[in-house]
Amino acid sequence: MDQQRASGPRIHGSDLKHFLSDRKQRRKQGCQPGELFCVKCRTATLPAGGMADYKSVSPTRGSLSGICPMCNTIITQWTSLARLNELKGKLDVKTLTRQPRIVDPLVPILNCHLEATR
Ligand SMILES: [Zn+2]
Repeated sequence: MDQQRASGPRIHGSDLKHFLSDRKQRRKQGCQPGELFCVKCRTATLPAGGMADYKSVSPTRGSLSGICPMCNTIITQWTSLARLNELKGKLDVKTLTRQPRIVDPLVPILNCHLEATR
């Protein structure tokens, strides 16, 4: 009975504490400036083409999204406007702002270019 119980992995309390703080530290350092964390690949990476979109949700915060170059998943990360400005030299960031819909969808668009692509 006692032998069976002892067969599982045993972790000493201080080792676990060290492991957790180490992991926390690595997660903090995980993303270099310009990198986004891909949940699928479980790694921080520069978005494909060094391009990312910033969608503002408030005057100071927004989400930064790009495409993972390894798995093509869209990777998104919350960021602040201040941090975004630090990234501008490293990433090609396109800022998308939410704008009120000014086009009435029932009015046909007259300058449509679909004909030209045929
Ligand atoms: Zn990925």
